[in-house]
Amino acid sequence: MRSSFIVLAALLFALTPALAQTCPATCRLPTCYCASNAAPGGLTRAETPQFVLVTFDDAIQARLEDQALKPVFAGVTNPGGRPAHRTYFAQAFNTDPAVAKAVVEAGHEIANHTHTHTTGIATDGAEWRRQLDGLERFFRDTVGVDASQIVGFRAPYLATNDAMWEELRRRGVLYESSLAELADGPFSAGIGRFVWPHTLDFGAQTACVAAKCPSAPLPGVWSVPMWVLYNEEGRKVGEMDPQQTPVYTADSTALYTMLRYNFDAHYTGNRAPLALYLHAGRVRRNDHAIAAFRRFLREVANQPDVWLVTMKGLVYWMQHPVPASQMAAWFDGGGERGALAATASEATERPTTPGTLRLWPNPSSSGQVHTSAHAPVEVYDLTGRRVAEAMPMGDMLDLSAVAPGAYLVRSGTERTLWVRR
Ligand SMILES: [Zn+2]
Repeated sequence: MRSSFIVLAALLFALTPALAQTCPATCRLPTCYCASNAAPGGLTRAETPQFVLVTFDDAIQARLEDQALKPVFAGVTNPGGRPAHRTYFAQAFNTDPAVAKAVVEAGHEIANHTHTHTTGIATDGAEWRRQLDGLERFFRDTVGVDASQIVGFRAPYLATNDAMWEELRRRGVLYESSLAELADGPFSAGIGRFVWPHTLDFGAQTACVAAKCPSAPLPGVWSVPMWVLYNEEGRKVGEMDPQQTPVYTADSTALYTMLRYNFDAHYTGNRAPLALYLHAGRVRRNDHAIAAFRRFLREVANQPDVWLVTMKGLVYWMQHPVPASQMAAWFDGGGERGALAATASEATERPTTPGTLRLWPNPSSSGQVHTSAHAPVEVYDLTGRRVAEAMPMGDMLDLSAVAPGAYLVRSGTERTLWVRR
């Protein structure tokens, strides 16, 4: 199966600049996306936001926050001064609940990296389940994070096996991120044309050089590749901890230059996301690495179309892509937390998301909706233009004058995204 994909990919590359799987018409967003080096939603390069992901694996501890993560992110913000978020592939063992709570409250993402980080290629299904359940239980009981918020997974040591893939399928995780993607992978064509995240409806679409790819499809489960970094000579730096490569361990400028080289290739190429996949314990006490990462992130995050989001935020965007010009509204409306996904799906009853403005049913064909608002409601399109204002009558709101589409709705300090059919 896989070799036929590779042959097909090579053939397609010869014929057309865009690599794409022969994708059945039934594969449609938001639940299915074929492996491709084209951005979702038919966005052109200029319309495509450049996402930069930063993830940290293993335990969450005060000394790692204070001596690695906070210094790396010091002064790093998204456009308009909005906060820049990161993803923690967390293990429960040795994680400090109070520190983890602060991390979650700051808007960062917790993903599942197992309870004790002891799994490997020989781990059976029952143990994978214990390990994944254990992590969820730890965060629920000691940190106060519901399991529904933990939607991503990375295998410890990137050691995958079929029992693991089966458990991910059984649980219905939103995404997994354990598979390295090389610049010459089946659906990539150089570091400026890397494959985008895709669902595993048709099995793995990466070369699976080191990892064990799934033997069967995982419908609806997103694969966020571990895009490999390359140096200026075209040699592989690696998919994790580039600061560990000998030429960069004591040379901040060289590390920065390599990162910038990769970013420029992505940004001027197809804008597939760029990722820094790190271990905080390997960044801590390395002032060269901290300086290089901070300089790099500050510099790129200063561009209006570059966004540092959580990995689940990226997947939510893949499901409901918006152009770079609408990213501020997407971010403010909770798109990174899945708000657009939630409002875009059929919600005929009162939604329960606490702390946000509520409108239902959603989508609404008539424009007459129920609302939790008691103050005037303003409706903005995704370019930020105010298109309507309305006052709730009881719990009813008349937005029938608003044209079909997606909107950011605001009442006082509360916001939500709303879809009119
Ligand atoms: Zn790990």
